Amino acid sequence: MAYTGSVPDIRHSHYEWMARAACADERAVFDDIEREHEARTICIVRCPVRSECLAYTKESEAGLHKDNRESVAAGLTPTERFRLDRKAARRADDPARVALSGHERCGTYQALLRHLWLDEPVDPKCWTGKLLRDRGMLGLVSQRETARTQLAAEATAGQPAPAGTDSGRSPRKQPPVKGSTPHERRVYRLWSEGLDDLQIARRMALSTTQVQRVRERLGLLAHKRPA
Ligand code: SF4
Ligand SMILES: [Zn+2]
Repeated sequence: MAYTGSVPDIRHSHYEWMARAACADERAVFDDIEREHEARTICIVRCPVRSECLAYTKESEAGLHKDNRESVAAGLTPTERFRLDRKAARRADDPARVALSGHERCGTYQALLRHLWLDEPVDPKCWTGKLLRDRGMLGLVSQRETARTQLAAEATAGQPAPAGTDSGRSPRKQPPVKGSTPHERRVYRLWSEGLDDLQIARRMALSTTQVQRVRERLGLLAHKRPA
């Protein structure tokens, strides 16, 4: 049967890094278009070889139309990779190309795309914005909020977001608390305040490993202490 699953297809390749791909045991997630947000989280939060995967994907897909790209790879959906690929030929009804200026403001969809496409670290601000948009798509925030964040994301795809806004989202609006247990929700709240793993561990009398496990389960990136 033809391969239809996640990128990269590791069955016929022999790159050493592919053995460490986080998607290797997550085929069901990467094969399901409805679970794109989960696949992206696996790439960004858990995968130790995202850089190698990105280089491989860029090379193997260069110039391809979006219809010939499959599955989330290196944290990017097929359409996003198509929009970011300057070599890809376009039809009149295709989504517009995303032109990166290098000055995208963190927290916007455009900045997240730049981080992922240029293999830059993904900071918590950009990742939190993405989580909000994903929750909107899952119906965990109101339809009105979803429409607003999606429109704002599209609007910022070609230009920096207006000053004082976060992808069009009201700065007073708080995203829903993540976590299915009080323990997870407390970790999430402390993480939302900008605390790193060590600070959360001290507040909750946990080990940093325990905090790290919860954080990764919730799909949250670690806050780094300033050098
Ligand atoms: S970045 Fe994503 S698609 Fe690429 S190897 Fe890692 S988990 Fe798989
Ligand atoms: Zn950023």
